[in-house]
Amino acid sequence: MKFNLDFDVIVVGGGHAGTEAALASARCGAKTLLLTQNIETLGQMSCNPAVGGIGKGHLVKEIDALGGIMAQAIDLAGIQFRTLNASKGPAVRATRAQADRSLYKKAVRSVLENQANLSLFQQTVADLIVEGDKVVGVKTQMGLDFMARAVVLTTGTFLGGKIHIGLENYSGGRAGDPASIALADRLRELPFRIDRLKTGTPPRIDGRTINFDKLAVQHGDDPIPVFSFLGKREQHPKQIPCHITRTNPKTHDIIRAGLDRSPLYSGVIEGIGPRYCPSIEDKIVRFADRDTHQIFVEPEGLDTHEIYPNGISTSLPFDVQYDFVRSMEGFENAEIVRPGYAIEYDFFDPRDLKMSLETKHMNGLFFAGQINGTTGYEEAAAQGLIAGLNAARLVQGQESWCPKRNEAYMGVMIDDLITRGTQEPYRMFTSRAEYRLLLREDNADLRLTEKGRELGLVNDTRWTAFENKREAIANLQDGLKRLWIRAESPEAELAEQFWGKPLLKEASLMELLRRPEVDVQRLLHFYEGDDVISEQVGEQVEIQAKYAGYIVRQQTDIDKTLRYDHLRLPDSLDYNGVPGLSNEVSQKLKAQRPETLGQASRIPGMTPAAISLLLVYLKKKS
Ligand code: FAD
Repeated sequence: MKFNLDFDVIVVGGGHAGTEAALASARCGAKTLLLTQNIETLGQMSCNPAVGGIGKGHLVKEIDALGGIMAQAIDLAGIQFRTLNASKGPAVRATRAQADRSLYKKAVRSVLENQANLSLFQQTVADLIVEGDKVVGVKTQMGLDFMARAVVLTTGTFLGGKIHIGLENYSGGRAGDPASIALADRLRELPFRIDRLKTGTPPRIDGRTINFDKLAVQHGDDPIPVFSFLGKREQHPKQIPCHITRTNPKTHDIIRAGLDRSPLYSGVIEGIGPRYCPSIEDKIVRFADRDTHQIFVEPEGLDTHEIYPNGISTSLPFDVQYDFVRSMEGFENAEIVRPGYAIEYDFFDPRDLKMSLETKHMNGLFFAGQINGTTGYEEAAAQGLIAGLNAARLVQGQESWCPKRNEAYMGVMIDDLITRGTQEPYRMFTSRAEYRLLLREDNADLRLTEKGRELGLVNDTRWTAFENKREAIANLQDGLKRLWIRAESPEAELAEQFWGKPLLKEASLMELLRRPEVDVQRLLHFYEGDDVISEQVGEQVEIQAKYAGYIVRQQTDIDKTLRYDHLRLPDSLDYNGVPGLSNEVSQKLKAQRPETLGQASRIPGMTPAAISLLLVYLKKKS
């Protein structure tokens, strides 16, 4: 049955990729439908109740700078906030928040329900409607046809999902939700490269059965960090502590004794798991010399007793889970509320995607999130935003946009995925970004909000706040350059009291700020401007002052390196006709059809000589 509504863009899946995709598309003015299996699970966190962390926090701030919701939702749902790497340089500082799961879902759903141009509908999508090489709609499980000019698939771990607990396994998209089998079968008929990955989750514990007195306490930071550039501390709900326990030799013995019934070690699971987020059995085998691992005991919310023991993800049989959990300090009487499990699922080789996240084999079809081989809410949400934006732009006849490697972590991730693919669940780290000093959490808005506004992603409230902040930064910088402290003046004495070093000659406040020991907050005692300087503005001015030399050097490197990086390789380029290119290289280029010279250079096995040959050829042609 053809449903009487036609849409510009249909987004399939209401997880982290799907919700950001639907919002981005609708914000850009495209008539958008979000079709998801179950409206109750919009914005659901399948695994750990937390947002951010090293590398991931950068993505959240970038999503926020482009008008997405993740940061605002976690500000309303975060029950413990911390800045990781706080003592290190600003490039690797990262915000992380523990979430109340239900508050997070509530915040996401409320934004979705109030977004103009966006409709929600609860149905499982079973098929794509295709005309030639173009997707034109989707068919749902109950036979409804929804037509659209672009479709974004964000089905997470659900395609052909198989849940494993010990040697038992069954079909499922995540615990409690059915797998997408019909859609997975249909996609397998299309010319995409498909493989299997796996991920896992720990058993959840009833907090009333944990002896917290035996555990170390971990409090959040004070002052409490804020995620969104528009966020305020007062928006946070009540803050509560986490705790820490550890595995011990007895835990490890129990796990080792259960390995013969582990689906991982008996060959039942074939998909590759996340290397940086291994299961506890994986850790015991791989790091056999260690007799303890730290386990973070994280609350799942304010109104629940459920606890997430971060670090013991497992697919061992339930009886082994039960025993090893009870072997840990404080967990002697622990009752499990939900068993841990692993899930195997289909993912698509992201080298079959364009930078816009549109698939190369089917026009109008976009993929975002775990379906592309990534892991994590933040990675999914960032891709969702880019895919939703570009689906809308395609329908509106506009050129696609994706940030470049030197502009955003989002750009680094998408470039990595589409040029190198992935053999294991891909997660973001600061070490993946070569221009870390420029791509900081603190300047995500300065890097992206103006572009977001141009693309139609940034609303008036965010834009006004951004313009005010930018102006305040410039004003403060000017003011600090104009104000001077003379040696042997009362101000110089105060400065010496603050920072323990005498002021030997006259210096502007800006010069002082460049010194490593000088902090902006106390420096503002000498500032005579009228405005109240916000923490965000002060922090930005301080970072820019202290790291100015490095930042300029990195920018010069970028200018040199990226001179030809963005040079486009026409779709029609005949690689056989490029003089000097080896057969092997031209096969690689033909298979992957990179969109730019930079992408070509990052394909594994590509040589600098081959890139020079391509450059010479392109220059001659133009
Ligand atoms: P999801 O959040 O999975 O959302 C998919 C959405 O699509 C759901 O709303 C679903 O109902 C809907 N859907 C699926 N099929 C259809 C269909 N045919 N029609 C309509 N709707 C459909 N990440 C980490 O960073 N670290 C971890 O340790 C970790 N462990 C995990 C353990 C488990 C068991 C699971 C399930 C996930 C884990 N994750 C982990 C991954 C994290 O949950 C995902 O990366 C993230 O949720 C991906 O977001 P997504 O939007 O791509 O997909």
